[in-house]
Amino acid sequence: MSDYERRAEGVARILIGDGEIRSRICEMAKELDAAYAGDVPLLVGVLNGAITFMTDLMRAMTIPLEVDFMAVSSYGAATQSSGVVRILKDLNEDIEGRRVVVVEDIVDSGLTLQYLLDVLQRRNPLDVRVVALLKKEKTDAVEVQVDQVGFTIPDEFVIGYGLDYAGKYRNLPYVAVLDPRMYSGE
Ligand code: 5GP
Repeated sequence: MSDYERRAEGVARILIGDGEIRSRICEMAKELDAAYAGDVPLLVGVLNGAITFMTDLMRAMTIPLEVDFMAVSSYGAATQSSGVVRILKDLNEDIEGRRVVVVEDIVDSGLTLQYLLDVLQRRNPLDVRVVALLKKEKTDAVEVQVDQVGFTIPDEFVIGYGLDYAGKYRNLPYVAVLDPRMYSGE
């Protein structure tokens, strides 16, 4: 069995290939370069899921920028958002008067992002833009600000490209649908 096949155990199907992700990120980076030309935005990555997206996005951008990270509680080993969000690691930077770009891996119910934006807005940044690699197509999500979306995906649990299930699969180079048998106990 090859490394690739071994890593792909638990993958139901590949949703977005690595080449497709790379070219979409280049487009998103160009838009950000244009939007922040002459400024030094602070890119705020939401750990752990956004690590891969953040590192690819910032390297595709050509303007001067700074990065910082925040960690919020995620689902643990579950596949549904509890709606309860906790800050596990706060920013190192003071964002007052800064142009902030929140870099999110995925927007599902929107609850995490809603909470995060509320926290950030209270610190008086100049402005805040939200960039998400993935957004799930669903009708019961909360109304939340998302300015740039890489891909709109079906309402299924996905893994790879930074996204985990029970801590694993973050190193898959693609976004894939997790085989539901992995969490149904079959
Ligand atoms: P929300 O609060 O929008 O429901 O969920 C946001 C967070 O939940 C994301 O930042 C991500 O960490 C996690 N999440 C949501 N959907 C998925 C998914 O399909 N796969 C994985 N691995 N994490 C998800």
